[in-house]
Amino acid sequence: MTPGEGRYDVVVVGAGPAGTAAALQMRLAGFRVAILEREPFDEPEHDWYVGVPRRMLQESRLDLPEIRDARSVGTFVIQGPSGRGGIRPHRNPVCELHLGELVASLRRRLQKAGVDCFDRVAVDGFAFEGDRPVRLYAHRTNRARSVLSLSASLFVDATGLSAVLRRRVPQLAARCAVVGPDDLCSAFQEVREISDPQAADRFLRSRGVGPEEHLAWTGLAGGYSTLTIRVSPRKDRVWLLAGAALDAQGMPGREMLVRFRRDHSWVGGRISGGGGLIPIRRPYGTFVCEGLALIGNAACQVFPTHGSGVGAGLVAARYLTEALARRKDRDPGGIETLWAYQHRYQRSLGVVQAVHDAFRRFVQGLDRDAQDQLLDAGFPAPSALVASLDQELGGAGPDSLAALVRLTLRDPRETARLAELGVRSAALAFLYRIHPTNPSVDLQRRWAQSVEWLVERRIGI
Ligand SMILES: Cc1cc2nc3c(=O)[nH]c(=O)nc-3n(C[C@H](O)[C@H](O)[C@H](O)COP(=O)(O)OP(=O)(O)OC[C@H]3O[C@@H](n4cnc5c(N)ncnc54)[C@H](O)[C@@H]3O)c2cc1C
Repeated sequence: MTPGEGRYDVVVVGAGPAGTAAALQMRLAGFRVAILEREPFDEPEHDWYVGVPRRMLQESRLDLPEIRDARSVGTFVIQGPSGRGGIRPHRNPVCELHLGELVASLRRRLQKAGVDCFDRVAVDGFAFEGDRPVRLYAHRTNRARSVLSLSASLFVDATGLSAVLRRRVPQLAARCAVVGPDDLCSAFQEVREISDPQAADRFLRSRGVGPEEHLAWTGLAGGYSTLTIRVSPRKDRVWLLAGAALDAQGMPGREMLVRFRRDHSWVGGRISGGGGLIPIRRPYGTFVCEGLALIGNAACQVFPTHGSGVGAGLVAARYLTEALARRKDRDPGGIETLWAYQHRYQRSLGVVQAVHDAFRRFVQGLDRDAQDQLLDAGFPAPSALVASLDQELGGAGPDSLAALVRLTLRDPRETARLAELGVRSAALAFLYRIHPTNPSVDLQRRWAQSVEWLVERRIGI
């Protein structure tokens, strides 16, 4: 082999949370693995804190101090656009960690475990055998500009929204539409100093929120938008997170943060922060083909209601590795192996994400009055909020029923729309239970069309 050439079982492209977790798990399972990253390896760009359900961190089976030490945080208080209301889930199953630190830790582990790591890389393209990608060409973007030519049984696209491999493999490019503006959330987070603790205290009191509680102020920039504010117990720091569906005006997430700072002079100097776009549609119906698997944001493995993709990406890394390890004597990029990964994902996390994609579309279409009306009636009910924070289905408890009765007395049409959403959710749960077990392009296409109809057709026509 000449320098820059390599032969691997698996080549992962993209060293974010999903790609690093997959590469590490596969190496520990005994596969020869390389990982390629566009940015410098020692400078992860993810400078934001993320909330991940503790159960998903455990399910990822990643034994890292950052995961063991992930801290629990206070609960949420949900308020509508008018600032009224204050729905509180009775517990918060989510814990918090700094995503850049997690990615840095995973990258260090990769190097120790013997994964070949190439950073500052630009992908040039594939060589194919028939439809199957078999060799990846890339080059380093540092001064050496050396060329890489890596062959592998399996390539994994973990490049997030840019999805550079998916776009270059016709079999998947044809089935995975590029995520459009209606299905993107612009999210920005900042940690800032508090320059006037008393003013911060007055703000919290006026909203009925305590320190360490997350005030989630919804609907400020359209139906799908939230500004979350959390003040530290010592009132010396504030966490601000703004997320909103993309609109014609630009990046609403960033603008919400700017507006909040302008209106609240107690928010002081910036300590850290970052942001970008998150896909908020359900995972693609098909995210594998011979020789290529998608993972993380590249597959839209995100919980649409709050744009959370870290837990799903980490769990998907485990599912993919276990699918490969179960057939270790066989071709890691073979379609049977990859289908097992896709099937397991769709039946466990995919169904939850599809139901929440339908819910997200419903919420995105609500105006301010409708949002306030739902919150006044008690939606989302605390039990549904806990399930949503935990990224699980459920929460149709007695509190949801009571909220439904209140809503019916005020606006029976809105109840009818919610009931339709409930029926569609039940139908989706059934469809995901009968997701095709074996590779079949035809069956899969019909299955995905039925899912699309249930999720994307407007409610209440
Ligand atoms: C402000 C903000 C707050 C968020 N909060 C939460 C939260 O609380 N909880 C949660 O679960 N999720 C949250 N998310 C979403 C979460 O960060 C993403 O879902 C997650 O990072 C996706 O991981 P990934 O590995 O799939 O992709 P990414 O994190 O996008 O990583 C992709 C990697 O691929 C690299 N790459 C891209 N293109 C190429 C290329 N051409 N060649 C080589 N490498 C390439 C990138 O440099 C990057 O390292 C938040 C996102 C933002 C922006």
